[in-house]
Amino acid sequence: MDRAWARRFTDPVAATEWAAQGLADPAQAGYARVVQGFLHWRAGRLDVALQCATDAETELRTAGEEGWLARALSVQAVVLNEAGHAARAMELLREELKIVEALGDTEMHASANNDIGVLISFDDPRRGLTYFERAYDLLARADCAPAIQGIAALNIGEVHMMLGDDALADTYVTRGHDLLLRASAWSFWPFYVTLRVALLRRAGRLHQARDRIREAFALLDAHRDAPTHSESMLQLRGAAARVELDCGAPFTTIEMLRDLEDWHPMRAELRIEFLDLRARAEEAVNDHAAACRTLRVLLDATNARHRYEHETHVKSMEVLHRTEAALRQSREAEQAAQALREHLHAMQVLQGQLERLSSTDELTGLANRRQFDHDRAHLGPDDAVLVIDIDHFKRINDTHGHATGDATLREVAARLCTALRRSDRAYRYGGEEFTVIARGVGGAYLRELAERIRRSVSRSPVPAVAETVTVSVGASMVGRGGGLDALTAADQALYTAKRDGRDCTRLASPSA
Ligand code: GH3
Ligand code: MG
Ligand code: MG
Repeated sequence: MDRAWARRFTDPVAATEWAAQGLADPAQAGYARVVQGFLHWRAGRLDVALQCATDAETELRTAGEEGWLARALSVQAVVLNEAGHAARAMELLREELKIVEALGDTEMHASANNDIGVLISFDDPRRGLTYFERAYDLLARADCAPAIQGIAALNIGEVHMMLGDDALADTYVTRGHDLLLRASAWSFWPFYVTLRVALLRRAGRLHQARDRIREAFALLDAHRDAPTHSESMLQLRGAAARVELDCGAPFTTIEMLRDLEDWHPMRAELRIEFLDLRARAEEAVNDHAAACRTLRVLLDATNARHRYEHETHVKSMEVLHRTEAALRQSREAEQAAQALREHLHAMQVLQGQLERLSSTDELTGLANRRQFDHDRAHLGPDDAVLVIDIDHFKRINDTHGHATGDATLREVAARLCTALRRSDRAYRYGGEEFTVIARGVGGAYLRELAERIRRSVSRSPVPAVAETVTVSVGASMVGRGGGLDALTAADQALYTAKRDGRDCTRLASPSA
């Protein structure tokens, strides 16, 4: 089983197989459960991982197996940390550290220091750094376990980056690179590339970042037979998509993330990160409808994650209660406050997304009628309302079908937006009818705006139907519709435009 543990980074597939075999042998079962715990953790199955590691702990304590007990504690600690029990994780890691110091095993000693560093570096980077450096130095002196030494080097680099010392970060990321290469630890290669790319992005060297990513893909492809962590590969694809967005190639980003929903199951936070990235790219190319759809998936994923976290949380609490005395009260309160802050933040993010969804028209990505009714209630005397209706739209539906009709609606919405100023806002009012609220305009400008909207739609044939589509526009200043409200006055002006032959604009006259 030592072999399975040693290969957990470089060959998780073989390690999984050996662990499954080991489970059948009573003399090996405790060790096998530790290995399984580690592998479940890497695959993001926190609850199963925790169960394996705590079962193993009980067995190994009874058997007095110090070395494997230390490993079981280490697995439990990283899992508990991810499930939000940092204080408890720290206690376990301290016990692990005591055991491995007594055993005099350099690799385990270094590994424990590295784990502690991971636990505290987010809140206290400088203290995390001292643990990473200890892990790194121990292995450098003994010249063993290059994979773990490489990971420690990358962790050191990451902390320096957090602290703003990119030059030092660069040095350690390079060392991490050399060590991972020596160890053939491909499953951690994307961690290296992600840091390297982050450094290049910060230095504004986007095209070099692109090259590094390309090289990494080639390298991992060349080592296809050495199993890589499939999730790490996805991480790399995500980094690549992000760099493309930075490089001003949002279409490439969208292309790279197109089949995101079909990707191999991955940890929820990664999925959420990528969905967010895709939504931003879709917004960058003005595909508001697609961005809207992506945001919906994002919302589902976020909700699912909260559910899963809640379940894991409950299960880990059960395991904790069964195996250990209660946590000290002050620590519990501290954790609860932290968890509450995090959940509050997540809820605020969700709230924002929900508000956005409820005010958006899904087909065109424009604001919807609900938003229009809201905005209409806050108009000033210098504001204006425009009503835009597609001419003979029924004919388009009848000739080309409803789907092409939808595509035409999207195209008209997009063209309409090109005619607006920043302060103007367009809405899909319903069917093939749009409205615009223009702020702070005079009568002359309003006429010009209405014309600009009309021309922007008819300037060239709409590709979906290969013919020119026209609109009629009615417009009214607030308070100039002869006692009518602006929407009704604009609607009547639209009626006049239709009666006068369509493809034209009419303003409500003050005497109307
Ligand atoms: P006019 O020039 O007088 O405005 O003629 P029109 O054909 O555009 O007007 P009419 O009100 O007779 O027809 C509007 C059509 O728009 C009828 C309806 O089926 C279609 N429509 C409404 N909403 C949608 C939609 O979401 N998608 C599609 N494809 N068609 C829609
Ligand atoms: Mg119409
Ligand atoms: Mg109509």
